[in-house]
Amino acid sequence: MSQKEKPVIEGGKPVRDNYLVFGQPDIQQEETDAVVRTLESKWIGSGPKVKLFESEFEKYTHSKFARAVNSCTAALHLSMIASEIKHGDEVIVPSFTFAATANVIHHAGATPVFCDVDRATCNISIKSIEEKITEKTKAIIPVHMYGRPCDMDAINEIAEKHSLKVIEDAAHAIGAEYHGEKIGSISPFTCFSFYVTKNVVTGEGGMITTNNEEAAENIEKFALHGLSKGAWERFTDKGYRHYEVIYPGFKYNMTDIQASMGIPQLARIEENLEKRQKMWKKYDSEFEDLALKVPEPEETKTRHARHLYTIELELEKLKISRDEFMQALHKENIGTGVHYIALHLHKYYKERFGHKENDFPNSYDISNRTISLPLSSSLTDKDQEDVINAVKKINEYYKK
Ligand SMILES: *Cc1c(COP(=O)(O)O)cnc(C)c1O
Repeated sequence: MSQKEKPVIEGGKPVRDNYLVFGQPDIQQEETDAVVRTLESKWIGSGPKVKLFESEFEKYTHSKFARAVNSCTAALHLSMIASEIKHGDEVIVPSFTFAATANVIHHAGATPVFCDVDRATCNISIKSIEEKITEKTKAIIPVHMYGRPCDMDAINEIAEKHSLKVIEDAAHAIGAEYHGEKIGSISPFTCFSFYVTKNVVTGEGGMITTNNEEAAENIEKFALHGLSKGAWERFTDKGYRHYEVIYPGFKYNMTDIQASMGIPQLARIEENLEKRQKMWKKYDSEFEDLALKVPEPEETKTRHARHLYTIELELEKLKISRDEFMQALHKENIGTGVHYIALHLHKYYKERFGHKENDFPNSYDISNRTISLPLSSSLTDKDQEDVINAVKKINEYYKK
């Protein structure tokens, strides 16, 4: 590529002709066939495919119990309920996360208390957790940001010392490992997402893993109106059975249509992770000398799930802002994302808790600089080259 090639916004030509959508799911013929078979079976609600997906998920995550629901948000909410989090309780959550992680604390009637993240890893800061603990604190929700496992030993040590529950937000972290253990097998509750952009997709969907049988049973009931066990079976060939309402539950169950997509997706997880690992390496090596930082290498004895590849712009060395950089990439036909604008900067949380930008300086700084680049296992080599060329082109043109 010639130096100082003109970006499209300055009247140049785009690096590619068709738009590269950010976070496109990797859907294969197997999923299409499986969904069609489920439709043809006429059993489209919660049934045998959900049960199969749950047992495959238990095997993959080495957890004793996995219970499927219709989103990770639902999984997090039910984990709050099953942990008996209620009005007056405080739950510590990083400010640097997706809205759902904190919103569910409100859904349970409790109060989210933000803490900061570590500047290098973007994961919850251990020191910051300790500063936020009061006598009302009941739980911590660590988020494995971008697929990088949090320091679970340090978190569990604090949790034990103060008798707090740990609920992991593993929306990014299916496939991740911490000190030889699979994410999903460690804490009282771990919550996964199968939203369209995630590493395993079911359209919408989520999973809760736990090693506690009673908790698993409760979650299954809470997810289906609080009806007594196995209520979904009431229309099967086992004959009609009455159910009892034992809790005013929610409508959070997963359907067999969703589960039938999830089963082949889960079976391809290692293969897809390898593809993303390869792309990750390529991005790292291509971006060495630009006005941006690539992600920190993962900690030893951990396995990164490679969900989001994020660059941090060195704004001091650029003539444009992060949003302008993204807009320039967009005009080159490259879709990108921002994960995330810290929650303490959002209207509701800012006004409700009176937060200032610099209350959580690391969250704030990352919020201003971060851009997520396409990393789906559905990308071709050419797609990734286009992303790299576009980033280099915009960097070259606008660097000071
Ligand atoms: C996607 C996501 C969620 C919510 O997942 P849904 O399945 O869409 O409800 C929660 N937390 C994080 C960190 C996420 O990225």
